[in-house]
Amino acid sequence: MRVPLLDLSEQYRALAGPIRAEMDEVLASQNFILGPKVAAFEEAICRYCSTPNAIGVSSGTDALLAVLMALGIGPGDAVITSAYSFFATGACVARVGATPVFIDIEPETYNISAPALEKYLSESCRRGDDSQLRDAQGRNVRAIVPVHLYGLCCDMDAIHRISEHFQVDVIEDAAQAIGAEYSFGGGSAKAGAMGEVGCFSFYPSKNLGAAGDAGMVICRDDALAERIRACRQHGMEPRYFHHFIGGNFRLDEIQAAILAVKLPFLDGWSAARRAVADFYREEFRRLGLTTQIALPAEPYRGRGLTNHHIYHQYVIRTSQRDALREHLTQKEIGTAIYYPLGLHEQKCFAYLGHRAGDFPETERAARETLALPIYPELTRDAQRYVAEAIAEFFAKK
Ligand SMILES: *Cc1c(COP(=O)(O)O)cnc(C)c1O
Repeated sequence: MRVPLLDLSEQYRALAGPIRAEMDEVLASQNFILGPKVAAFEEAICRYCSTPNAIGVSSGTDALLAVLMALGIGPGDAVITSAYSFFATGACVARVGATPVFIDIEPETYNISAPALEKYLSESCRRGDDSQLRDAQGRNVRAIVPVHLYGLCCDMDAIHRISEHFQVDVIEDAAQAIGAEYSFGGGSAKAGAMGEVGCFSFYPSKNLGAAGDAGMVICRDDALAERIRACRQHGMEPRYFHHFIGGNFRLDEIQAAILAVKLPFLDGWSAARRAVADFYREEFRRLGLTTQIALPAEPYRGRGLTNHHIYHQYVIRTSQRDALREHLTQKEIGTAIYYPLGLHEQKCFAYLGHRAGDFPETERAARETLALPIYPELTRDAQRYVAEAIAEFFAKK
């Protein structure tokens, strides 16, 4: 049996009619840039995330970049983020001329460790007479970027408390977590809507995927939202009057139209992904594999949240990761390593002067984690085949 890591074809087949009708409408209108489809999709995201402002942009990377530019973050500034994320999280900080500061992760969730963040801020940073928080090199600590990795929210209670105590803004990288919930003060909040700003990616393989690149920024503050909105069009408002330097970070009408067709199905897809995760767990238990592989943590299950995890990825951990991956490849099972290096180990960040061992949990996750096939339409037969292939690998050991 061949089991791909991800297969989007069935999802497209189910929605091909309405998607093609929407695309035809955009083509007939010949209105491709920042028209009614983008505005309608932005409104739909505002409703979905319970947030007052949404700004459609060209990708998740550009969402992060536009936010950093709109906040005027640049040379002399530091931005704190997780050492274990997709490259864009750290790269955007460097691209605006600021310094990325990495923090290690929690080994169970792979998300930024709140205690390590707090330790860094209290031991390595201090507030100047001008009340600006600075790091040991005198850089202004401007923001914390928690990344809700694999579709699970970070420990936002702790991060909120830390950000309030140290008065540093929170920019959520929610690229992998649209719709994921966190319980907050009696109620619940969605990923991206808990910090000052949240960033989404609609890269085709994300839980809500476009037919190409697309992204979104959501934001509480109206004035900041206006700046981000201007930033997406070269800092321009009104036309041909430029207040600051932005970029071309616009979301296309066609992408917005397709995403608006898909958004009402997102929660159903997330529920189906959770059901896949539940069945993997049952199978791994049945096969007695839970001592050999660590399954994804579900710290927020049982807190009354629906989307306590949206399983953008289903990631297991084993010290025999590479051999297991090889075995699964031979069985025609698609797997992936997210990510084989910590951000601090990337060549392009060598100038930051990190060494092996600086972020031990990140480095261990990079050596031991493996993403298994997960998507809403994955069949139980396919999952059984994956689980049995893993059992076969460990039986041979
Ligand atoms: C996908 C992703 C991004 C970047 O989004 P693109 O749309 O691919 O530019 C940023 N951060 C994380 C954590 C991601 O997974």
